[in-house]
Amino acid sequence: MHLKPFSWPSGYRAAVCITFDVDAESGWIQESANHKRLSLMSTGAFGRRAGVPRILDLLSRHGIKSQFFVPGYTAEIDPKLVEMIHREGHPIGCHGYLHERTDTINYEEEDTILAKSKAVLKDITGVTPIGYRAPLWEVTPQTLELLDKHGFKYDSSLMGLDVPYTVPTGCGSLLELPVTWLLDDWEQFAYSAQPQVGGVIEEPDKALRMWQAEFDALYAEGRYFMLTMHPELTGRASRIAMLDKLVSHIKQHDDVWFCTPQDLYVAWAEKQFITDEFPY
Ligand SMILES: [Zn+2]
Repeated sequence: MHLKPFSWPSGYRAAVCITFDVDAESGWIQESANHKRLSLMSTGAFGRRAGVPRILDLLSRHGIKSQFFVPGYTAEIDPKLVEMIHREGHPIGCHGYLHERTDTINYEEEDTILAKSKAVLKDITGVTPIGYRAPLWEVTPQTLELLDKHGFKYDSSLMGLDVPYTVPTGCGSLLELPVTWLLDDWEQFAYSAQPQVGGVIEEPDKALRMWQAEFDALYAEGRYFMLTMHPELTGRASRIAMLDKLVSHIKQHDDVWFCTPQDLYVAWAEKQFITDEFPY
């Protein structure tokens, strides 16, 4: 066998993380031309108003925990939403302030954004976030250095493997919980006329087939399934029904560890599993 097997703790065969990025209006508001586009803004608001509550109901029905990565701006305009997620016991991680692309900002700007977005979440929940997911999954060497400086313990933005690994930050190393465009609802469901985003709105069954196929194959190999979704997209009724089917399908398999990125970090810090290190 050429693919190095991965050893999960306590007899688990594979790990599953169901995660959400609560972008809401944060990414759109960066552009002043969008400020008067109320329909566009309202698509973000939908995620906060209907998407997150539906998702919390689904998670609670299945008795599983998720993790929500929340931009500072989303948290500032809707602190009650963050309180609600926190009260349900789902860990919260940072996701920029205005969903900034890290490859377009300098050291001082990124430094300020990390400090500010962390402080906003801590003010609401009382818990200092230690997990980070880069907006648009854009990570630079500067990002890794600054994550270390701001005390982040894990990142979930790179795509270098389908099990956890570590990345050097310049002064230490960070646990990386990799993602993939294959397991992201944005490519399937995102659509906006102006600004132009996406093309075809895919049917929920297509996403279900793709994601189920990837889970089945990863499970067979004993690896990890990290799904990234957005409440403004997957929070729509038919897609929640699809996610319900996906979770039910996964639950039919033995020894699956439904965990959060935060759970993975804690287990890794306790040396319940070990990881290889790669530059990115
Ligand atoms: Zn995002």
